[in-house]
Amino acid sequence: MYRFYVSEDDIADSNITITGRDVNHIKNVLRMTPGDRIIANDCMGTDYYCVIERILQDEVCLVIESSKKSEAELKTKLYLFQSLPKKDKMELIIQKAVELGVHEVVPIITKRCVVKLDDVNKQQKKTARWQAIAEAAAKQSARGIIPDVKMPMKFADALHYANNLEYTIIPFEHAEGMDYSREIMDKAADCRSVGIFIGPEGGFEREEIELAKQAGMKVVSLGNRILRTETAGMTVLSILMFKISD
Ligand code: SAH
Repeated sequence: MYRFYVSEDDIADSNITITGRDVNHIKNVLRMTPGDRIIANDCMGTDYYCVIERILQDEVCLVIESSKKSEAELKTKLYLFQSLPKKDKMELIIQKAVELGVHEVVPIITKRCVVKLDDVNKQQKKTARWQAIAEAAAKQSARGIIPDVKMPMKFADALHYANNLEYTIIPFEHAEGMDYSREIMDKAADCRSVGIFIGPEGGFEREEIELAKQAGMKVVSLGNRILRTETAGMTVLSILMFKISD
């Protein structure tokens, strides 16, 4: 069944109204007619199974037949704190992170980031583009929510923000001990919320790792090979996604 994302405001008792670009898609691309069934998702984890009642010029009116919690969401909320990478690599990282079940992406600015993105205007523009990528990826992989992409944060602010999470891990290429890393991953998979801090192409500075340790984060290894920044986050998300029982 086709799936569309609506906002809370579009839902009233037993009806949902679809507006915007999806109307054209439903009418002219999918050529749906009253009586056809679709899933409307409220972007907050609930799927509404609906039947199309009317198709008007600017809106499609649905009647809700049943609803249930989306099965696509992991029970552990995964937060990817990704240091700003070079060029447009962040786009790929966001797309893949959403496919792998990330709950939120927080772009971070660390000492060795080449891209600084200091200008607030530029930050806003970039964040809007990244959010659109998250939305497209969420639709493609039938997510129960559209993961949020935050405005870029400085490392220190990100540490503070991550304080609200139950557990946070920071992969570091000079960390040793795969047994310890496996233990940490197992523990993380049992938590309600987990932060994952990934360094930029140049890696984290020792000082940043020290600050993270002081904040209670777990420093882990991802093996004896250096992974690119875009691979490291996907690796951790894949490991955790697989371990988290649904
Ligand atoms: N400065 C490094 C590369 C950094 S890789 C170098 O060229 O030697 C970018 C980020 O990916 C790192 O900051 C770390 O968070 C993560 N990462 C890459 N490989 C890793 C590994 N083997 N173990 C743990 N983390 C790793």
